[in-house]
Amino acid sequence: MFRNTWMEVNLDAIADNVKRIQEICKKRIIAVLKADAYGCGDSHVARAVLSVGAEMIAVSSLDEALMLRNEGYNGELLILGATEKEDVPILIKENISVAAYSRDWVHQVQTTNCKNLKIHLKIDSGMNRIGFRTLDEAKEALNILLEQECIVDGIFTHFACADDPEQTDTKKQFSKFESIVKELNYSFHWIHSDNSDATISFQDDLTNACRIGIGMYGVNSYGIELRHPISLHTKVIMVKHVAKGDRIGYGFTYEAQGDEIIATLPIGYADGLVRANQGRCVYIDGQYATIVGRICMDQVMVRLEKEVPIGTDVEIFGPHIHLEDMAKDLNTIPYEIICLISGRVTRSYIWEGKQQEENARILKSEITEVHYE
Ligand SMILES: *Cc1c(COP(=O)(O)O)cnc(C)c1O
Repeated sequence: MFRNTWMEVNLDAIADNVKRIQEICKKRIIAVLKADAYGCGDSHVARAVLSVGAEMIAVSSLDEALMLRNEGYNGELLILGATEKEDVPILIKENISVAAYSRDWVHQVQTTNCKNLKIHLKIDSGMNRIGFRTLDEAKEALNILLEQECIVDGIFTHFACADDPEQTDTKKQFSKFESIVKELNYSFHWIHSDNSDATISFQDDLTNACRIGIGMYGVNSYGIELRHPISLHTKVIMVKHVAKGDRIGYGFTYEAQGDEIIATLPIGYADGLVRANQGRCVYIDGQYATIVGRICMDQVMVRLEKEVPIGTDVEIFGPHIHLEDMAKDLNTIPYEIICLISGRVTRSYIWEGKQQEENARILKSEITEVHYE
């Protein structure tokens, strides 16, 4: 690590969270590792979830699925989002399951040799994203795909309001899904509807697997005690004393009200610390320091209450500043904050108690071995 900005991902804690969630739902676990496992590193998180019995990994696209195959994952793998008929040969070759999600998609795929393509029917039970909206559409798709000798392996839907404890909409969506599954009268190997929040809050006798994502990172809407595996850190690189009237950062949006101590940190919006964080706090050795002035691309300035040495650790979020609270401050959700932590930030993994660092960009430059004249 050549720059003191890192995201800690405790894979032991992720594995514990998966175990805890599995104890609650008592169903098969599909670990949703889309978007590089929400920015945490898909192959690393995969190792953790597989060690505690996750039986399938789900991603959003063929690129993400192939990334996992390239990293050596040979188990059950499902693409939740869109695929195209041109992808069919590689999907079959790599034994990757896909969602069948529209009449168009089925009619396209039907025109290619799709024998042995593994399929989960996606039912749109109300969210109006992708999926078959009626029993007739689903039945037509099932019949066509079976005729083509596809392997129809599963059926699933997705809830729009799983975080709502009232569950009014979840129940409506579920009963639509349930009636379609029953009417199809086909023995699906995988039947799944619950994301993390629904896994924790919604019980049913129809489904046999749960798709968990954010819950692995300790976040849920139901107050279930889980471990907090991720935190974001940097270090103080410079400390200076400024006087009343001194101004700070691009646009001079901050002016010192008296003698103040200002620290510069090597993290900025290109790392995912978005500019909306101006005015929020970071945690430095027992004190909460306010971000003053605009957040730059690579650096940020904070106001200290008391001086600290160069090199002091800084927590952006973690044990003292919870990810959920940061999301509330920013009027967003924890998912968005962690997905936006960029590839420039070194990931520091803890696995079986041991620490290991990785920076995607350094690995890439080692592989391509560019030589400059
Ligand atoms: C992202 C996603 C999930 C996981 O959701 P969490 O809220 O992170 O548990 C499950 N199912 C589908 C279809 C998804 O897109």
